[in-house]
Amino acid sequence: MIETIDTKAFFNIGYGLYVVTSNDGKKDNGFIVNSVNQVTNTPARISVTINKQNYSHDVIKNEGVMNLNCISKDAPFSLFQRFGFASGRDTDKFSGLEAWCSENGLMVLKDHINSFMSLRTEKYIDLDTHGMFICNVTNAKVISDTATMTYSYYQENVKPKPQTGNKKGFVCKVCGYIYEGDELPYDFVCPVCKHGAADFEPVK
Ligand code: FE
Repeated sequence: MIETIDTKAFFNIGYGLYVVTSNDGKKDNGFIVNSVNQVTNTPARISVTINKQNYSHDVIKNEGVMNLNCISKDAPFSLFQRFGFASGRDTDKFSGLEAWCSENGLMVLKDHINSFMSLRTEKYIDLDTHGMFICNVTNAKVISDTATMTYSYYQENVKPKPQTGNKKGFVCKVCGYIYEGDELPYDFVCPVCKHGAADFEPVK
């Protein structure tokens, strides 16, 4: 039997989208993840899996705390550009954005979230390219009753359709960046959103 893996099947696992905030001791930082799960009930534990290439991975590994901001469906594309398409190493993600501080001292967005949770790392699992943080919840609040932004809703309704024109090549499914060429290098990383070759598809 020939087994094949159609990675598009993975997109049929339902995902929400979240801004994870942290602080490296100098400034507040935030970035976007979809890999969040509640993994136990009593006590409540939440897992957050983070690519090691993200600056926030190292910050959260050192500090052991983060806030999870659950993005709601009314969030504009600019929120994803702000937190998803730049690095906290060299940009201030909170410049000109309204936010407040929860009891752990970390930022909570004022708009476009429906809940937030403050998390403290209990276990760290090394998954080679990624680190998985298994966390206790120290604070949780519902902010609004607007539905959660799912990854598929973002893909269909929030992300602008890429202007491919007559270009040939591969388009980043996350941000719309186009790589022009006949073959996409397997280790290619999107210069805009830093997602890898797996998130590209041929321009149609
Ligand atoms: Fe991209």
